[in-house]
Amino acid sequence: MICCPVLKNNIWERSHMTIYSISCDPECSFVVQSHDEEEVIGFAKAHLRTAHDKTMSDSEIGEMIVTVEK
Ligand SMILES: [Zn+2]
Repeated sequence: MICCPVLKNNIWERSHMTIYSISCDPECSFVVQSHDEEEVIGFAKAHLRTAHDKTMSDSEIGEMIVTVEK
């Protein structure tokens, strides 16, 4: 669950036309995109854990999300 108030302002209103995207650092080039925000967070979390041995909270990962309006 997202609990960050900053995020609420930006992406709280869900839309089927909104794509959520997270890019890892440029050297890694991992990118995940989905219209399902929780799915993006889940993938990013798993990637950070397996590829970078890094654990981040949902709200930290949420701050990495970029939304694309289609
Ligand atoms: Zn990465």
